[in-house]
Amino acid sequence: MLSALETKIWAYIRRTVWLLSLCMVVALFIWPTVGLHAFWDVLIPIAPALVALFPGVWRNICPAATMSQFARHRNMSKRKKLSIKTHGWFVLTSVVLLLLIIPLRHTYFDLNGPATGVFLIVATLIAICFTFVFDGKSGWCASLCPVHQVEKLYGQKPAATVGNAHCSSCSKCVTGCPDSTPAPSPHLGGKTWPRRAAAFGLIGCFPGYVWGWFQVQDYATLSEGLSHIVPTYMIPIAGGGVTLALYALFISAVPMQKRKTIDRFFAAAAISCYYWYRIPWLFGFSKFDGNGMLIDLSETIPQAAIQILPYFTTAFWVWWLAIKRNGLRAWMPRPPDEKNSNSTINLTVSANP
Ligand code: SF4
Repeated sequence: MLSALETKIWAYIRRTVWLLSLCMVVALFIWPTVGLHAFWDVLIPIAPALVALFPGVWRNICPAATMSQFARHRNMSKRKKLSIKTHGWFVLTSVVLLLLIIPLRHTYFDLNGPATGVFLIVATLIAICFTFVFDGKSGWCASLCPVHQVEKLYGQKPAATVGNAHCSSCSKCVTGCPDSTPAPSPHLGGKTWPRRAAAFGLIGCFPGYVWGWFQVQDYATLSEGLSHIVPTYMIPIAGGGVTLALYALFISAVPMQKRKTIDRFFAAAAISCYYWYRIPWLFGFSKFDGNGMLIDLSETIPQAAIQILPYFTTAFWVWWLAIKRNGLRAWMPRPPDEKNSNSTINLTVSANP
């Protein structure tokens, strides 16, 4: 369990991140250029690396996670248990949502502050609503959140285990807790076919889907985006289909105990592909003029200086995710069981009348 000081520090960090996020959402409406850069060109490019290296930190400070625990921390949740079957369906839905939302960045979200703001508000409202119904993190952070399966894909080798700022005790809200299971992966959870399909689909298709996403440009208006909606979806789907077929081939060719290695190479391929394109784009070296640019350095530094960076990031992610051994580390330690922790509290109370 966290000490009182650690609890205070995490609460302080969480509130700071939450307030910054609120400012960002307000900026998306009243100062869209700043809000869009803050969200799509700062927060989102940092997120995959943070999730891969320090998933526990991400899980503790994510503003949507904070809101998704709103009713739980105030004892206002009905605390319904998700059945393994329903959890599997939630997980599959989260992957489908992720794959549906990503291409919409090109058609609508990347260049439209209010649209991005409304999207974030709606997602947060759904997370809040679910906290009133489902136990612990089962309604959102460990199931329906579209980012959650990517957390499990990239976060298989955390650099550190950090204290769990949301679960002071464990109610076993889900089968296969992503936070406290060592080296979690998308395969974690009940053995239901929707959960298996979600894991197989995401691990296999994500590298190609990410590659395909970077082959499509942003469209300035919704009508222009809608008129290009077919290639906007079809190119990532085609890329994802190719890597999914390769994944199916590879896992069918190796014994079961070797499949984790293949999963990790595919995770490394997806995050490497993301930074391969994203880093040059951030500095104005996109093949689509100005797409995803944070600061234009295209006239300031030689193209070769930026183009060499992705080789280093790729080497790093392949080493980190697929080759390096770091034992079986969990994102967070498992908190004490809720029943034991309640009985400890009762004993303490009765011993201190
Ligand atoms: S630690 Fe327990 S209560 Fe918290 S997310 Fe994991 S299973 Fe749920």
